[in-house]
Parts: sequence; C-alpha cells; structure tokens
Amino acid sequence: MSTFPVILSAPSGGGKTTIARRLLERRRDLGYSVSCTTRAPRDGEVDGRDYRFLSRDAFEAAVRRGEFAEWAEVHGNLYGTLRSEVERVLGTGRHVLMDIDVQGARQFHAAFPQTVLVFVLPPSGEVLKARLAGRGSEDRAKLLVRLRNARAELSEVGRYHYVVVNDNLDRAVDQVSAIIDAEGLRHDRVHEIEGQVEGLIAQLEQEIHVFSQDD
Ligand code: ADP
Ligand code: 5GP
Repeated sequence: MSTFPVILSAPSGGGKTTIARRLLERRRDLGYSVSCTTRAPRDGEVDGRDYRFLSRDAFEAAVRRGEFAEWAEVHGNLYGTLRSEVERVLGTGRHVLMDIDVQGARQFHAAFPQTVLVFVLPPSGEVLKARLAGRGSEDRAKLLVRLRNARAELSEVGRYHYVVVNDNLDRAVDQVSAIIDAEGLRHDRVHEIEGQVEGLIAQLEQEIHVFSQDD
C-alpha cells in the first residue's frame, strides 16, 4: 500500500483539530505531523504533542536552514511543517495527517502533488462564532482576527479535492475516513495492481482452457 499526506484545513473553530484527534484514535494507518508554531500554548496543550512551541528567533533560524516543507504566517503567528516530521511519519508506513492553513496547503501540495486536500466547512457563520467563542482559547480581539481571516480562507475552498461539512461530528469523521479509504484505492496509488491484474488474466485463461476442454 502506498502512503500519502492528508491535509485538513478549515477556518479557526471549524473543527479540524477535533476531527484529526478522532481519526488518529480510530485509524492505526494514520500518523500526525506535529507542526511548529510561535504562538503561546493553550491550556492543556503539550509541547511536542500538539505543537512544537518555538520562539520567533528559533522559528526563523529553522526557516533559514530550509527545515520546513512549508510555513506561513497565520493570525499573526508563524506556523510550519518540518520536513523531518513528514518523513518520520511516512517512515512508519502511515499516511501523514496534517492540520494546516490554506497558504501552507497550497505550498505543500505544489511540492507533494500526491497530497489529498480536505476542507472542513462549519455549518454556518453563527455556529463557527459560537464554537470559537465556546472553546475559550482566544480573547475578544484575537477571536475577531480569526473570524475576519475566515472570510479569506473560505475563498480557497475551490483548490481542495474534498469538502466536508462539520455539522454532526461523527458524520464528519466518518466522511474524512471514507475519503482516506477511497484515496488509498485509487489506481495510480496502488502500484502492485498491474501485476495483480496480469496474474488474474493468466488464471482466467487457465480456467477458460480447462473449461473449454470439458465440452
Ligand atoms: P479548529 O481546530 O478548526 O480551530 P476545533 O477542533 O478546536 O477547531 O473546534 C472548535 C470547537 O468546536 C471546539 O471546542 C470543539 O470541541 C467544537 N466542535 C468541533 N466540532 C464540533 C461539532 N461537530 N459539534 C459541536 N462542537 C464541535
Ligand atoms: P491554531 O492556532 O488555532 O492551532 O491554528 C491556527 C491556524 O494555523 C490553523 O488554520 C491551522 O491549521 C494552522 N496551522 C497549524 N499548523 C500549521 C502548519 O504547520 N503550517 C501552516 N501553514 N499552518 C498551520
């Protein structure tokens, strides 16, 4: 089986982190790419599990050393995916699941065209605001920045291969999981298929030969 990167993007509060966590609990064939960021950790976030929390100086030094597969400034902070992190996950034989913004998705897909792009849509603007406020992770000013940025992020939906509406969480998780299953079965990803089909044709010819002799 060939592995591939899967990117989840959504406006802040759209539910991509929640969906990614559920998928990782459910599927052993997925590994998470832990991003680097200069934003401060939220309550409960663990360095190295949710993000690698870096100072701006350390982040910029890593940019200069060419360590990022992609990076972008999002809501006033820097975020990036380390090449080594993507390689680590792919090296375990799993698909690499990434929760990254629309700019990063565009960069990463240009460099790795086998990437599957999934956009998670909130059911409405009202619900998005309520979920973001309910999470309680941003003050009012930061929440407003995230809502304003959501408008520009939504205009990028057309670049994505799939769109999932996160109304009912279980259904949204099922749908992303189904996308990963279907992508894994794509002809151009299943390298061994040609040999398998040739084998089947040879077996079929044998069956036809035996069957025609029984006449
Ligand atoms: P993102 O990672 O896209 O910023 P989160 O995964 O943090 O979004 O979700 C934002 C908030 O909405 C969280 O408090 C989460 O528990 C909640 N949430 C996510 N999906 C749903 C859903 N389908 N129904 C209700 N609440 C949800
Ligand atoms: P948050 O601060 O809410 O965790 O994330 C803010 C935004 O940064 C989200 O859109 C999230 O997808 C994005 N993000 C997280 N990690 C990365 C990354 O490695 N690269 C890019 N480009 N964006 C990221």
